[in-house]
Amino acid sequence: MKLAPNTTPIQPADLLIRLHNQVGAVIDITGHQHYQGSRWDCHGCGDHSERPVLDGLVFTRIGANEHAGRCRAAYHRLPQ
Ligand SMILES: [Zn+2]
Repeated sequence: MKLAPNTTPIQPADLLIRLHNQVGAVIDITGHQHYQGSRWDCHGCGDHSERPVLDGLVFTRIGANEHAGRCRAAYHRLPQ
């Protein structure tokens, strides 16, 4: 069985930025643009930013981009 990358998950209502990892799986940045309160979630490997969310969007974007640059997971069945 071949697992395709999760490239088109449902868009969360508070979606700010959508990135893709090395194999095309989505990493969503959600939350608030102008307040501290954003997070990222990788639909490839299930990793995410720390909880509770304390980072502003600038730092969340940096973390998500770093993750996207090294993640090669296409699909996971890990609980959120
Ligand atoms: Zn990942």
